Amino acid sequence: MNVLELKDVTKRYGEFTAVDAVSLKIEKGKVLSLLGPSGCGKTTTLRIIAGFTSPDTGAVEISGANVGRLKPYERNVGLLFQDYALFPHMTVAQNVAYGMRYRGTPKSEIPSRVKQMMSLVQLAGMEARYPSQLSGGQQQRVALARALATDPQIVLLDEPLSALDAKLRLELRIELKEILRSVNATTIVVTHDQEEALSLGDEVVVMRGGKIVQRGSPTQIYAEPADKFVAEFVGRSNWFHGSRRGSSSEGVCTYVTSEGLAIHARTPLSNQRDVVDLCVRPENIVLMGGATSDVAQDVKSNVLAGVVLDVAPLGADMHVVVELPGKGRLLAIRKNVGSTPGFIAGQPVHAHFSASD
Ligand code: ATP
Repeated sequence: MNVLELKDVTKRYGEFTAVDAVSLKIEKGKVLSLLGPSGCGKTTTLRIIAGFTSPDTGAVEISGANVGRLKPYERNVGLLFQDYALFPHMTVAQNVAYGMRYRGTPKSEIPSRVKQMMSLVQLAGMEARYPSQLSGGQQQRVALARALATDPQIVLLDEPLSALDAKLRLELRIELKEILRSVNATTIVVTHDQEEALSLGDEVVVMRGGKIVQRGSPTQIYAEPADKFVAEFVGRSNWFHGSRRGSSSEGVCTYVTSEGLAIHARTPLSNQRDVVDLCVRPENIVLMGGATSDVAQDVKSNVLAGVVLDVAPLGADMHVVVELPGKGRLLAIRKNVGSTPGFIAGQPVHAHFSASD
């Protein structure tokens, strides 16, 4: 059963289309990340679901019922908006209880529900404090408790972690994931942070210019991006622009770039075009030191000679930029290098990747 369904929803502001024919379904208990660059229509989509913005065309259904005529407070939706701050003149407990008072929760049940929510977000004992007496992370947890207190059918989180510093952001991200799972909340999280989207969402929806460009599991979005925009937006990538010169019976095509590099890529038969953009993820590039004669015998294609331009040891990973003289640059990421010796700037290397990558 779909808890939420958007059917062909469009919202225009004058000539500008902020949300363009968006259709979306989400099942009970699933977390969906809505990812995209600033201005792509994420917040407008959430506002339409919550009832703050009316779509020009299309329908919003919650648990099978069209909610188009319902006011925001009549929709059983929990909200944590970027600009939806806590009420400063109310205590933490009053903030958490706020929605329940409007949604007809019996008065006698409110204190125990507040207590339950406070322990869920690990703030038990802080009920009497005012928001100004809490840290940023604690305030965000109160806002989450307030959003979940009415046991909403759908929880909408708009950039829930963006106001926090990097370390706290990561801690709270893990906590948020646990909390949403423990209450089996059906959730849409809006973010422009790809790491956040991939780690929080059971599924990720990528938006661009008001439209959905791809929906898939975090792994699919990363490994099988629908187009160049998605590939560049999610993770790092190296690009070649090439023309097809031949294809083997095993589905491996040979492309020649404008700089004269021959690149071999396994390409689905349905997508063997003559002019293509080819993408290689940096962690799929293997670097080999030494002369060409040292390159392993079985490695015959996609061996590019270069010189190490820069090495950045980033803890477990090492980022190596390789200059392919006259033919561009490549970023290679070596994972879990620990204390093994790496490469040094100026060193000649060969970069290799498989046709499948
Ligand atoms: P961000 O990540 O920066 O919050 P977003 O993806 O959430 O961006 P939206 O806030 O949905 O983007 O805005 C989508 C587009 O619609 C933007 O170009 C914005 O300027 C425009 N827009 C949003 N609200 C209005 C409005 N009330 N009037 C006119 N244009 C608007």
